[in-house]
Parts: sequence; C-alpha cells; structure tokens
Amino acid sequence: MSFFREDFTARSAAVRVRFGAGIRSAVAEEMEALGVSRALILTTPQQADMADEFAGYCGSRAVGRFTGATMHTPVDVSEQATELARKLGADVVISVGGGSTTGLGKAIALRTDLPQIVVPTTYAGSEATGILGQTENGVKTTLTSAKVQPEVILYDAELVTSLPVAMTVASALNAMAHAAEGLYARDRSPISSLMAVEGLRAFRDALPKVIAAPGNVGARGETLYGAWLCGTVLGQVGMALHHKLCHTLGGSFDLPHAETHAIILPHAIAFNDHAVPDLLAPLGELFGMAPGPGLWHFAKAAGAPMALRDLGLAEADLDRAADLATANPYWNPRPVTRDGVRQLLQAAWAGDCPDA
Ligand code: NAD
Repeated sequence: MSFFREDFTARSAAVRVRFGAGIRSAVAEEMEALGVSRALILTTPQQADMADEFAGYCGSRAVGRFTGATMHTPVDVSEQATELARKLGADVVISVGGGSTTGLGKAIALRTDLPQIVVPTTYAGSEATGILGQTENGVKTTLTSAKVQPEVILYDAELVTSLPVAMTVASALNAMAHAAEGLYARDRSPISSLMAVEGLRAFRDALPKVIAAPGNVGARGETLYGAWLCGTVLGQVGMALHHKLCHTLGGSFDLPHAETHAIILPHAIAFNDHAVPDLLAPLGELFGMAPGPGLWHFAKAAGAPMALRDLGLAEADLDRAADLATANPYWNPRPVTRDGVRQLLQAAWAGDCPDA
C-alpha cells in the first residue's frame, strides 16, 4: 500500500540517536559532543545502581545523582530535582530508566532548558517525544514543548535484558499503541506511517524471541528499535481514542500505565477499524487477520494482561469511566459515543476478543 498523501506536513525533531549493545559507555563522549561537563544522573530508587554505573562512565563529569524518579512525574519531585540541578550547577541531565525517569528529566529541562541524554530501559518511547505529563494535586496535565525533547538517546539492548517478561510485554504493547494510533492520525505523514508499520513489524517479529529468551540481546535490540520508531510516531502525530481511554483509566482509576495500554489496544483499534479499514490494513497484513483480533491474539500469545478486571477495576466503575472518557473527547476517526465506549470498556473489562 502507499502512504502518499496529497497534502501533508512532516515534522521531525533534531535528535541524535545511537544504537548498540554496550553503547551506554559512550555517554561521556556524548557529553563532550554536546559541549557539557556537569551531569546530574537520574534514576528511580529501584534502578539506583544504574546511577552508580553511569557515574563511573562520566568520571569527574558526574556532579550528582537523583534517584527519586517516580510514576506520573509529580511536580514536587520535579521541583526538588530541579533545585538540586541548580545547586550543583549541572549543565546536562542523564536519564537512565523508563518513562518515569525520562519524565523527570523532561520536567527539569522544562524548568532549566538543560539538554538531556536519555538511556531508555523500557519501550515506553517517551525519550523520542517533546511531550511531558505531570501530576499536581492528583491532576495529570500534558504539555508539548521543544524544550522537553531530549537531545541524545542511547539505545543499549543490554539494559533491557533485566526488564521482567511481564513488564516487557506490557511495555511493548504500550509502544505498539503509539504506532497503531499513528496510522490514522489526522496529521500523519508518509514518514510517520512508514515508521509506524516498521515499528509494529519489529515488535511482531522480536517480542516472541525476547519472551522465549529475555537475555537475547539481538532480539532486545530489535524491540528497542521498535520502541524508537513507535515513540517517534507518538512525538510527531496526534493520538486518539485509545490514548484518551488509557489516560482516563490511569488518571481517574489509578490503573498501571503499560498494562492498561496492553488491554485497551485491541479494543480501541477494532472500534476504529469500522471507520478507517484502509488505514489500518497494514495491521491486518502484519498479524494475518482483522487488526483488533490480530492484536488481541498477539497480546494473548505473549502472555499480556487481557482484562481490566484483572487490574482491579470494578465493573461498577465502567459507567463513570465511559462518562469521563467521552466528556472531553480527543479527535477520533470514528465518532465517539458514550454507548460505544461503554461497550468497548465492557469487552476490555471482561477480556473478550473484540469483534472484527
Ligand atoms: P516506569 O518508568 O514507570 O518504570 C516502571 C518500573 O520499572 C520502575 O520501578 C523502573 O525502575 C523499573 N524498570 C525500568 N526499566 C527496567 C529494567 N530494564 N529492568 C528492571 N526494572 C526496570 O515505566 P514506563 O512504562 O517506562 O513509563 C511509564 C510512564 O511514562 C508513565 O508515567 C507514562 O505517562 C510515561 N510516558 C510518557 C510518554 C511521553 O511521551 N511523555 C510516553 C510514554 C510513556
């Protein structure tokens, strides 16, 4: 199929991306190339040992570490870390971890304009976007700014080998959701569609190999490649119903980010396939059946969580979730009705395979 459109605008950020097993040790070289010499290293408490490892690569160029990155980028944590960056006179942040750590680096960059080197250890894809979600007083808001777009990404397959299989699968489906929704984005370009299809293909081929052998660095590399492509799509085009539902469920019902994406994806895609089957046809080709069921069977075979009820959502909450998700809807290729969303949520709650 052709991704040509008669009218389009293509946008790409100026990002330097390096791939390779062991490439993380080039972090000092990348600091040099950026013309910076005082790094603040960021991790979660669970990955604090990575801060030590990176301090070793940076030597005297590491001026401090902040190991308190946490989910949903709370503003008070960001302000604490920003204050530390200022106090230390840091001129770059190095974020080592998943979307939560990357989010903290972006929050510091927003407040200080410091450049960011990101070393992702999940497939969430935040490193490839200029998007930042933050929470304050329990309310999550999202902004897009060139200030928060990371300058350098080092994709090192060795670092994802430690990602437990369950998180690997959920994180991969989280990434695939960016690409799947990118296929029908209003502002898609031929390039974003090409990246979306190649990102989905990379996960289709490499994820089963990673599940069979989590330490397979080659297959891990290909999934990271998929994460980069899918994340880049997220950074270039607008998202629709799927992301809206996940934000509602995460924000208002505290459901875990990647797992929620994994469960909702086949249902949201099946819903939209009714409106834009031509645009979703590449998914059908990749998975050998209609896009929604194809993604559902792929997720099931990978051992993904399949039902919102298994994440602790009560059936009684589905009405409120449908109300919230349709209160301020995102643009979507198929008109979003309250009944349609309620039905979709019911199937996702029960873990049923969506109809083609
Ligand atoms: P995460 O960063 O919250 O990580 C979850 C846990 O896994 C943490 O404890 C972390 O330390 C641990 N972990 C990460 N990598 C590991 C590894 N290789 N081995 C062992 N443990 C590891 O999870 P996530 O799914 O990557 O990120 C979710 C967050 O990212 C959400 O807040 C989401 O909103 C955000 N996000 C933002 C964007 C964006 O463009 N702004 C895009 C995608 C996700």
